[in-house]
Amino acid sequence: MDSTKLGFPSISIVDDGGSTEAGSQPVAVTQKSGGNGTQPAEGSNHGKVVIVGSGPAGLTAAIYAARANLEPIVIGGFIPGGQLMITSDVENYPGFPEGIQGPELMQKFREQAERFGSRMIDADVERVDFSGRPFRLWARGTEYTADLVIVATGASALWLGLDNETRLRGRGVSACATCDGFFFRGKKVGVVGGGDTALEEASFLTRFANEVVMLHRRDKFRGSKIMQQRAIDNPKIDVRWNTEVADVLGDERVEGLRLRDTSTGEEQDEAMDGLFVAIGYKPNTDVFRDWLDVDDKGYLVVVDETRTKIDGVFVAGDVHDHRYRQAVTAAADGCKAAIDAERWLESQGIAEVATATAW
Ligand code: NAP
Repeated sequence: MDSTKLGFPSISIVDDGGSTEAGSQPVAVTQKSGGNGTQPAEGSNHGKVVIVGSGPAGLTAAIYAARANLEPIVIGGFIPGGQLMITSDVENYPGFPEGIQGPELMQKFREQAERFGSRMIDADVERVDFSGRPFRLWARGTEYTADLVIVATGASALWLGLDNETRLRGRGVSACATCDGFFFRGKKVGVVGGGDTALEEASFLTRFANEVVMLHRRDKFRGSKIMQQRAIDNPKIDVRWNTEVADVLGDERVEGLRLRDTSTGEEQDEAMDGLFVAIGYKPNTDVFRDWLDVDDKGYLVVVDETRTKIDGVFVAGDVHDHRYRQAVTAAADGCKAAIDAERWLESQGIAEVATATAW
């Protein structure tokens, strides 16, 4: 692929000639003709496995499915890569002791998936029809069909819902410090939220901004202790407890915020150059809601680890997980979904595992 596509410099990957993890056997999967599945064709819009989503869950599922010779099609979104594309330092993903930037990590995931034969489609799935097999999916006007689908669409950033927040998005209002922090060199910015995202965004922004004001509606952070301490110890970060953003001020761009004390209701305006909203995420389930169950928080309901109520439709990652929501748990989920998918295809006579230790 064009490795500059995600906005990052080319990363060279050393090809070791296809070595596998220690102790495992090379994958050898044979494709059966005459099963329930359709045979793959170069550039065909039919996949034995179609994966929707290209975050850690989707791309890990792609790596595993591709290494099982299932030639997965990954419909990864118009803006591929998932939430890590708007994450700065990732310090808890195993294997990167010095930490790694989120977009760079996703670039590596993608190159690894492509190396084993995954086909990437950078488009949003707009509609699906899971009423029968093959399953049907539409993205940017093209219909794709699949013997099996893995839904790994993740979750998206939430906004406060203020009119001026929407109006000034891209003009001082952002949900991505990694993308936009650079524009706030020497400025004063607010960060809303009290979780790890807000703490991380605030710390990252101190690389550019002179003053970062954390605005949290309660008197206690929700994020991890180490990130709390880092923010509190940072002389450029000013934490305002019991504070919410009542409005965003400015005509052409952000000039200030109207802040409300959540205990007294008192409001006051404060000059600021930007506002970063970091208040959590919403699972991306809209196109699946007619077919799959969602729980009371809107996340997809999973049966038996990776399955859904529709046989042949699997789920992985943050689109169903509101408990852990980590890159590493999403990746693990993608791995599980791909293994279950491969076994399901085998049970349907669509693919056959040739070795007992194929993974
Ligand atoms: P979160 O943990 O749900 O925190 C959301 C924060 O936003 C909470 O403090 C919440 O306030 C506040 N909030 C929600 N709605 C609000 C509103 N309308 N107005 C004002 N404030 C509002 O979400 P997150 O920080 O995005 O983290 C999600 C998950 O990802 C967590 O499990 C986190 O550990 C993980 N994560 C990890 C890393 C990392 O390890 N590098 C980085 C980012 C995220 P209350 O506290 O009052 O509810």
